[in-house]
Amino acid sequence: MQYLSTRGGDAGRVFEDVLLAGLAPDGGLYVPQEWPRLDAAEWRALRNHPWEEVALAVMRPYVGDFLDDGELRAVIDEAAAEFGHPAVTPLEQLDDNLWMLELFHGPTLAFKDVAMQMLSRLMDIALERRDERVTIIGATSGDTGSAAIEAFRHSRRATIFILHPHERVSAVQRRQMTTVDAPNVHNIAIEGDFDDCQALVKAMFNDRPFRERMRLAGVNSINWGRILAQIVYYATAALALGAPDRAVSFTVPTGNFGDILAGYAARNMGLPVERLVIATNINDILWRTITTGRYEVTGVKATTSPSMDIQVSSNFERLLFDALERDADALKGLMDRLSQSGAFDIPAPALERIRALFDAGRTDEDEVREEIRRTFRETGELVDPHTAVGLHVARGRAAPEAAMVSLSTAHPAKFPDAVEQATGHRPELPERLMHIMEAEERFSVLPASLDAIETFITARA
Ligand SMILES: *Cc1c(COP(=O)(O)O)cnc(C)c1O
Repeated sequence: MQYLSTRGGDAGRVFEDVLLAGLAPDGGLYVPQEWPRLDAAEWRALRNHPWEEVALAVMRPYVGDFLDDGELRAVIDEAAAEFGHPAVTPLEQLDDNLWMLELFHGPTLAFKDVAMQMLSRLMDIALERRDERVTIIGATSGDTGSAAIEAFRHSRRATIFILHPHERVSAVQRRQMTTVDAPNVHNIAIEGDFDDCQALVKAMFNDRPFRERMRLAGVNSINWGRILAQIVYYATAALALGAPDRAVSFTVPTGNFGDILAGYAARNMGLPVERLVIATNINDILWRTITTGRYEVTGVKATTSPSMDIQVSSNFERLLFDALERDADALKGLMDRLSQSGAFDIPAPALERIRALFDAGRTDEDEVREEIRRTFRETGELVDPHTAVGLHVARGRAAPEAAMVSLSTAHPAKFPDAVEQATGHRPELPERLMHIMEAEERFSVLPASLDAIETFITARA
């Protein structure tokens, strides 16, 4: 399996190149040269098999010669063992034709754990073989930082620095990061907001001497390794509901388009995915794009589902590349227009191809609260605001021909205030996480200054 960049400036890369690079040198995103497929008999043979076996079959063709079956299986087993549920990502039926796929049983209670736990192990193997080390830096408003820290705390090859806005993340989210006691983990609280943190990370990557000296690496959702790991649970859910002999649709609470892109990959691998429904909160760039064909950046508004409060959806570029029939020049033209004028129009044939599979819905803050309340009233389940964005949209899109699966991307205890406000019930942290509320915190407060942060990192990397 080889990989190429969506912008045409790089090709012929193997899995470990793509894993360690993150972004392609031409600014594009790596995609597989072709989508591997399993036939119906191969899918059928995986039914009723454990999560780990499905994961091996799904990930195998993408990984190529990098790992043999035994090595890949070891990565999968270790990652799966970090989850607090034997099925790793269990399905729960909510209504006649509506299921919820619980992706929050990992160490930090959000779906990002699935990918990060695999990514950290895959990166360690690649770095070990090349005898290299990396410095991972990232900015977080909550979920990404804690998932990355939990995943890389045992890394032998990576030192990780995560910037969060000082006194602007919830106590649970902060403590999930700052109570991790490992010599290669560093938390920096920036005197500023999330945008300042993101700008600082971007500035460090743009500071070429610093980037090369520190061997900076990113683990954000454009890394192909993260997308790959997420294909697995689309397959396990579809198989559990009768695929390949029964069609399944998915509704996905969407921000950067990484999670739902994995659903698209699952369909390209031969699973009968009928519809992929993008669910946005009021930061609705993708809903507007699917509805009007115009991709246009506007300001970000804060919501109760902060992990979906995004301005642009980076991974959408991968879908667009296919929809443009892999015309890298055409794609580059659209991306240039985006950086110049903050918008582009999708050509009609490409939009038609996207709409043949994708649908979109939008959930405002009142609807989120009402959905949390309704789900609790009807099923007794407490759901978090991100999950509620999905469920609200899924209810309007479910069709009898295909089972509808809505992805539950975070545990309700991660967002206890919103859940309590809607239902009067405060969700409790799972037993295994209670210790973080008492454990000692370790973080450094720094001003939003590039100099100060680079000095801090240089002294510790
Ligand atoms: C990151 C995140 C999302 C959005 O996922 P994307 O891959 O960015 O579309 C949704 N819900 C939760 C809880 C998240 O942490």
